[in-house]
Amino acid sequence: MSEYQETIFSKIIAGEIPCHKLYEDEHVLSFLDIGPLSEGHTLVIPKENARYLHELSEPAAAALGAVLPRLCRAVLKVSGAESYNVLVNTGEPAGQVVMHVHVHIIPQFPDSGLKKSWKAGSLDDATAQRLSKQICAHLDE
Ligand code: AMP
Repeated sequence: MSEYQETIFSKIIAGEIPCHKLYEDEHVLSFLDIGPLSEGHTLVIPKENARYLHELSEPAAAALGAVLPRLCRAVLKVSGAESYNVLVNTGEPAGQVVMHVHVHIIPQFPDSGLKKSWKAGSLDDATAQRLSKQICAHLDE
């Protein structure tokens, strides 16, 4: 587990920095992204201090996941978008800047700031079997 250091999001949770709040419960806070990739770009964060998604406790993750469909529906209605991306940048090389777990809800429009760059490879049977075995072996950790 990496060491959590105070972030702009922990300050928002503590009420030390303002945000455009959309939703709050015991475990979760949601607010508008101040650097939106499209209108309605929303962030959803756990109140638990965790840098990465894989370090989040199951109760915190469950609470985060539970509220996502409701927030997505509201963002879709208000933005007028018919599609959207939900993403969690995890780790600096993956584009994470704020080291507190956060889920982006990004309405998709032709001119939105998120462009899909998805270079699909292929999965052969031997690799699939090796990976499945190895990943499954770590699921109880
Ligand atoms: P990431 O690159 O996944 O770490 O994204 C961090 C996001 O946080 C960016 O989209 C920023 O625009 C957003 N952000 C940073 N500071 C704030 C803030 N004070 N209020 C709302 N959003 C913020």
